[in-house]
Amino acid sequence: MRPFEYSPLPSRVIFGSGTLTRLDELLGELGATRAIVLSTPGRRDLALKVAAQIGARCVGIFDGAVMHTPIETTLQALERVTALGADIVIAIGGGSTIGLGKAIALRTDLPQIAIPTTYSGSEATPILGETVARKKTTQRSPKVQPEVILYDVELTLALPYALSVTSGFNAIAHAVEALYARNGNPVVDFLAERGIAAFATALPALQKDPGDRTARAEAQFGGWACGVCLGSTDMALHHKLCHILGGAFNLPHAEMHTILLPHALAYNAAAAPDAMMRISRALGTADPVAGLVRLLDRLGAPRALKDIGMPSDGIDLAAKLAVENSYPNPEPLTEIGLRGLLARAFDGQPPAAA
Ligand code: NAD
Repeated sequence: MRPFEYSPLPSRVIFGSGTLTRLDELLGELGATRAIVLSTPGRRDLALKVAAQIGARCVGIFDGAVMHTPIETTLQALERVTALGADIVIAIGGGSTIGLGKAIALRTDLPQIAIPTTYSGSEATPILGETVARKKTTQRSPKVQPEVILYDVELTLALPYALSVTSGFNAIAHAVEALYARNGNPVVDFLAERGIAAFATALPALQKDPGDRTARAEAQFGGWACGVCLGSTDMALHHKLCHILGGAFNLPHAEMHTILLPHALAYNAAAAPDAMMRISRALGTADPVAGLVRLLDRLGAPRALKDIGMPSDGIDLAAKLAVENSYPNPEPLTEIGLRGLLARAFDGQPPAAA
């Protein structure tokens, strides 16, 4: 066995159906009596439902969470946290809402209960991405790791199919990059392979029936497993490109991850044989890149950056930015190589080796 180091991430994780009913009990165990419930504007109904459920333990809601955690939103939410005298943050929603909870926890050290409703996996990481003056920066801090993650499969039944697919591929991307991370280890390898396999089974089942609880539960487990991979290792080319494109062109997060994944995989394939072997096994295919493309097409996933708002004159800028700061990646990064990758992803062409 290769020598390795692994620090388990300290969260209590609860899976099941109907687990939301345990919220009051969990608050009691944490000694919390003044919860603030966070949501996006579109999921205000859910925040109100949670607030009603915990009754006197809730002091108010904040339903202004938006993607990429802009500092302006965090400051507004912090004002509300202070005014209400909240002693715990409950974030119910996807990565946008959970990101806001983390941003509050970073500044107040309040405990958090994350109740995820997508598969993107932010709840499982000590990572916070924030946007200040349109620039997104990412940091790691134990302060932002939610104390409790409450997965309730019932909350994902209404997750639209298209979002299920893209947030599922967002999760798969965490696992893929963890498999070739410089600080990977056998625990992460196991979770990554299991997480990818979970989505390879669950997403086709959800295409047939979005109300399939077994598939929903499998996807939820996959989201957590892949999130732990993200939280435990350093990401490479794929996440770096997404960070650049998200920051420069404000492209939708999960769709961008989905589109770029087969291209990043093809770029790194020759330099990461062990990771490719594990991805092949998880997808049940001999060729991981071709297998991933087949799965994307079968699921009707987005394939071209031009379709999600990327400007064609952004390719050169993004390739330049991607090689400007060095970061570890299995295949050496070249501006010309990345320009080719981005051009293919822009048009939705098949991925190619570096
Ligand atoms: P999201 O939270 O942005 O949600 C997308 C939309 O779907 C929102 O309008 C939301 O209200 C809606 N929605 C969420 N769950 C739903 C449900 N069950 N039914 C119906 N509608 C639902 O989506 P996301 O992809 O989970 O999060 C993206 C954000 O998370 C980005 O800002 C990204 O940077 C961040 N993220 C962070 C990490 C991390 O570790 N820090 C990891 C992954 C993603």
